[in-house]
Amino acid sequence: MKRLGILTSGGDAPGMNAAIRAAVRSASARGIEMAGYLNGFTGFVANRYQLIDDRAVANVIQRGGTFIGTSRCPEFLDPGIRAAAAAQMRAEGVEGLLVVGGDGSFRGALALQDEHQVPVAGIPGTIDNDVWGTDETIGFDTAVNTAVLAVDQVRDTSESTGMMFFIEVMGRRSGAIALHTAVAAGAAGVLVPEARDEFSKLIKHLKRSIERGKRSHIIVVAEGEQAGGAFGVAKLVGEAIKSPYRVVVLGHIQRGGRPSVRDRVIASEAGALAVKALVEGRTGVMIGRNGGRPVEVPLADVVRNQHPAPRLDLLALAEAISG
Ligand code: ADP
Repeated sequence: MKRLGILTSGGDAPGMNAAIRAAVRSASARGIEMAGYLNGFTGFVANRYQLIDDRAVANVIQRGGTFIGTSRCPEFLDPGIRAAAAAQMRAEGVEGLLVVGGDGSFRGALALQDEHQVPVAGIPGTIDNDVWGTDETIGFDTAVNTAVLAVDQVRDTSESTGMMFFIEVMGRRSGAIALHTAVAAGAAGVLVPEARDEFSKLIKHLKRSIERGKRSHIIVVAEGEQAGGAFGVAKLVGEAIKSPYRVVVLGHIQRGGRPSVRDRVIASEAGALAVKALVEGRTGVMIGRNGGRPVEVPLADVVRNQHPAPRLDLLALAEAISG
């Protein structure tokens, strides 16, 4: 094997750079060049790449985002486009592809393998932690830590003024960030897309805790929550309990920033092991995590299975210990 390719795809996540760095250096140690495709499948289709050597990944492990860029590339759903891209890749001498992204990106990777026998390996990188077959995805830990830091700051105001805050965190279809943020930041309540009709319970809980003299109330809301994110929830709940409230939408600050130690470590292991899998002829695998250790999981299983349910038991825990 002389040359591999790597791309980052879908939403960017802190730790993607650490995965690229590990993949490049593991390949280089085996005398394999790494082509970094720019902006996900968009660059792959357009044959836009740069060779990334050992030195090119110096000083990136601590940086958020992805230095080779990412995108969504609807064109890649077209089998004709994939065929042309696979032929182009071969013509450039690229013998296998590492895809860092979520399950959508893995569907693209698997299509290349199934239709054109391109050896592929997946590295789960998404802040939402919603990939089947892995306990954790790269970026989740950092995103939750960022959200918790922001909630801590809002809590000072909540405590001082007695105002209730509805804080929206990312997660269009996954409540994982919201659930972990709520427990870690000591929120009074949490609403996520996977658990419906929690309003009346939350309203009852808030009324009770106000009666008991609790002054600061933080309610964490996942953006994909059924009532329309934090603004929708605030209107329903805030009006029902007749308490002054404010809404804070954390938005994209959750995506960037220095990756946490945890994300750097899991990304580094995944990058190195993805290269090892391809070199040793194991294709179509994702490097996931199980019980704190990296594991190879067939990509076919990852994309076939439903998104894993987040820890919905954390919902009850957040409420039970919020006072
Ligand atoms: P994520 O990888 O985070 O789940 P998306 O679902 O947006 O993000 O997918 C990222 C990209 O992967 C898409 O823009 C597209 O280029 C590619 N992709 C997604 N689904 C498929 C599919 N079924 N077939 C081929 N490519 C796909």
